[in-house]
Amino acid sequence: MIHFRSFTKFVAIVFAAAVVSVAWRPDSAIAVEDESLGSPPKFSVVCSTTQIADFARQVVGDRWEVVCVLAPGEDPHTYEIGNDDLVAVSKADLCLENGWHLEGNEWMQGLATSANKPVVTSVNGVKALTFEEENESGQPETVKDPHAWFDHNNAAVYVKNIRDAVTKVDPDNAEEYAARANLYLLQLRGLGRWIERQVNAIPQNRRILVTHHDAFGYFCRTYGFKAVTPVGWTTGELTDVSLEDRQAVIKQIQELGVKSIFVETTINTELLEGIARDAGITIGGSLYSDAMGGAGTAGDTYIGMMRENVLTIVKHLK
Ligand SMILES: [Zn+2]
Repeated sequence: MIHFRSFTKFVAIVFAAAVVSVAWRPDSAIAVEDESLGSPPKFSVVCSTTQIADFARQVVGDRWEVVCVLAPGEDPHTYEIGNDDLVAVSKADLCLENGWHLEGNEWMQGLATSANKPVVTSVNGVKALTFEEENESGQPETVKDPHAWFDHNNAAVYVKNIRDAVTKVDPDNAEEYAARANLYLLQLRGLGRWIERQVNAIPQNRRILVTHHDAFGYFCRTYGFKAVTPVGWTTGELTDVSLEDRQAVIKQIQELGVKSIFVETTINTELLEGIARDAGITIGGSLYSDAMGGAGTAGDTYIGMMRENVLTIVKHLK
């Protein structure tokens, strides 16, 4: 049997101990169960393009630092690496490229291998559109069109590749990466359904997309457009536009009754403006092609750039 006084003393001691233990708890232990909150990111990923950086951000949240080599509006085909890129890659745990030669002269592969960092090709697993070209020795060559993100189904392939790559580096947070990726994949499916409904406003015979270079092949294949461009799949080497190619585009515009053509945010607009003038039609606006828009613009995310492009295309072609 507990003596009354000693029981009171016992209760008093337990109570005091509880008060002391609460009072002595360090601030960081109170209510902050996730050690990542408020602390600097543990890992760093360097991405070649703005689209890939957005996909990565959707998957890693604040747990990683996401660095993008290309600034909004920069052209991946012609980009030349700088010192900042070397510094960023030297601190990276992972590098992500688009692949299929989008990065001219494989600059992202070069950056990663020179710093001995793992590099993952985000486009791997996509069903490629191909072009037949002549290589430097004059031999026919089949090249894969690298602009695969313009089909929302392909964007999902990128996201899954990125989810797997970051999980490999940080398996402890696999569930979190999977959860974020799953939510984003749902958003991409919603985007696809929205695009299909929007483009239905354009009659079939007016679904002709004239742009500077072959960036919209996947967009056209998936959403039912015909692509017409004076320049091939890259804006880099071998892209001087011959008079014949220019005239061929003007002829197609006139024969197909195209009312509007589109410039691209990453490319000088002079060629397309000249073509529009000579064909007697208008520029229907500017499309995000190889890079997203700047921070704070409507096109500063992948879903945002797709939405803005579709609204611009529908407005001018319907
Ligand atoms: Zn391109």
